[in-house]
Amino acid sequence: MGAVGRFAPTPSGRMHLGNVFAALMSYLSIKSKGGVWVLRMEDLDTLRTKQEYADLLREDLLWLGLEWDEETQPQSRRSRVYDRYFDALQDMQLLYPCYCTRSQLHNVNAPHLSDGTYVYPGTCRNLTHAQRLAQSRQPSYRVMVPDRVYTFTDLVQGFYQENLSADCGDFVVRRADGVYVYQLAVTVDDGETGVTEVVRGMDLLSSSPRQMYLQELFGFSTPTYAHIPMLMAPDGRRLSKRDRDLDMGALRSRLKPEQLIGILAHAAGLTDTGDAISPAELAGIFDWNRLSRTDIVLNQISDIF
Ligand code: GLU
Repeated sequence: MGAVGRFAPTPSGRMHLGNVFAALMSYLSIKSKGGVWVLRMEDLDTLRTKQEYADLLREDLLWLGLEWDEETQPQSRRSRVYDRYFDALQDMQLLYPCYCTRSQLHNVNAPHLSDGTYVYPGTCRNLTHAQRLAQSRQPSYRVMVPDRVYTFTDLVQGFYQENLSADCGDFVVRRADGVYVYQLAVTVDDGETGVTEVVRGMDLLSSSPRQMYLQELFGFSTPTYAHIPMLMAPDGRRLSKRDRDLDMGALRSRLKPEQLIGILAHAAGLTDTGDAISPAELAGIFDWNRLSRTDIVLNQISDIF
């Protein structure tokens, strides 16, 4: 099977520059090797995500010239599929119900990961049957992790390692309201789609060992990882969905798609000038080694506006 890349946005708002950058990088990487680029809507959180954002996202990608080869089923429609993998973990006796409240977890005096979660101390791991029956709230479900170091060499960040037990702890795979969490859904979807490379923001680097562990349990191969630097405003703030001035609505009214791609590519170190360029042209000269490894400060965008 050939190379398969994917872009997996969460349609919880209009696409902003950070999403454009992630889409562009995964597109360039896979197209530079003639692979297939898959689009997947990560709309597990039905309260935050909206169909209209998913529609706008597709339209914005096409405007940018980033045409996907295939779109897989949105995550909100796949809970039956995730049930099967959840049951498999249950059969492996790796799951347990967790009754901890959010505030209990926040009070845990433990180091926390870059994604804001805490090392789970295993509070509910060894509850007795009677203790479980005595609980009044609906539990989330956690998967037990091994005391093992997971390592990989990221195409951008280099060598990365994490001991799942010491650095993360048992993690939630299904929330108390029955919704499956990102780690489980993304592993199942990437695995079933045959994704060979995952390109995404640096903020998800520490998620990879959890996904590698689930891949191992489900019998999927581990893809190549590339965690790309974050985009920063000139004052050093990380760009986010709150920066409405940099969402696609504003960008499309001020720039042509190839100008926007040219500015991003230059800021990321991929080209020598910020001249307009199409994604297809850029794929022809794409080289991971040129990409900046550190946060990318976008001065040029502010110059244009
Ligand atoms: N859905 C995630 C996001 O929009 C990306 C997940 C991934 O690429 O693994 O941030």
